[in-house]
Amino acid sequence: MNPTTTNGVCILGHGITYSRSPMIHNYWIKKYGVDSRYGICDMPAEDLPDFLDAIRQGKSAGCNVTTPYKQAVIPFLDAIDDTASAIGSVNTIYRRDGQLRGTSTDGAGYVGHLKNIHPDLQLKGAEVLILGAGGAARAIADALLQSGCSVIYIANRTLQKAREIAAFQPDTIKPVAWDDVQSTAGLVDVLVNTTSLGMVGRQPLVFPLDGTRPGCVVSDIVYAPLETELLAQARRLGRPVLDGLGMLLHQAVPGFQLWFGIEPQVTGELRALIEQDLKSHG
Ligand code: NAP
Repeated sequence: MNPTTTNGVCILGHGITYSRSPMIHNYWIKKYGVDSRYGICDMPAEDLPDFLDAIRQGKSAGCNVTTPYKQAVIPFLDAIDDTASAIGSVNTIYRRDGQLRGTSTDGAGYVGHLKNIHPDLQLKGAEVLILGAGGAARAIADALLQSGCSVIYIANRTLQKAREIAAFQPDTIKPVAWDDVQSTAGLVDVLVNTTSLGMVGRQPLVFPLDGTRPGCVVSDIVYAPLETELLAQARRLGRPVLDGLGMLLHQAVPGFQLWFGIEPQVTGELRALIEQDLKSHG
């Protein structure tokens, strides 16, 4: 899709093999009668300035951003909000007052899904263990702290990356060595896997949950497969669970609202559509 020839929106990235974002947004575009279309814009880095300038000039409402451009787009934007600034990454671009602006909705998507599925969970004062220290971990840690969590432990294979995240808020974010993670797991109210382990085609995440508290919410942001080994184990132990598909759906809500002024609903019908696609494509 070319933003110079259509009122379309799209996901911007390079080497995009498959994305569910078109399915999600085109479902809402049809449901709310919006005059637009959501496509895939896969382009080399040298095309970014012209592409983004076309959006600035009003030839498109905006775009989502995926790998490898979540950091690379920032210098071409006129402003980024506090969330994008805190995590150094943008996944949604939109226009306001002639300016091109960026935000990140991944963290809000995770917390939105968590609150939706577990409304009784008190995030204020909660302690959370995040496995992984990549872009998604940063976004989720920031959103959980904004929601009032008191301590976020981050365990990562490469401990240095967990330390780098903790350096921003050393009082509330604690890096944990992978070898010490089991004892930390017994302290927390929420455990979330943000590593890519457990994804279709990757090694499984081997993580015994026996030491977690009975009420600990076990979540995985991997959504292909929908039921990861981690979630299956949590269910066997009777722990409350949270899957990754809800985050994917909820992170799309703010973008649609910023582009079209309509807050779209994450419905059972939309979820079923994406679940069906996951079953067909993996
Ligand atoms: P990323 O920045 O590349 O980070 C990947 C993380 O996985 C790093 O912490 C990395 O550890 C860890 N990892 C990779 N291979 C590992 C291994 N063999 N053993 C231990 N740790 C390993 O990726 P991201 O953007 O944060 O995304 C992470 C996952 O979340 C992906 O599966 C992605 O599809 C998913 N995701 C889902 C949603 C959603 O809406 N549900 C949104 C965003 C991302 P090192 O630092 O040691 O390499």
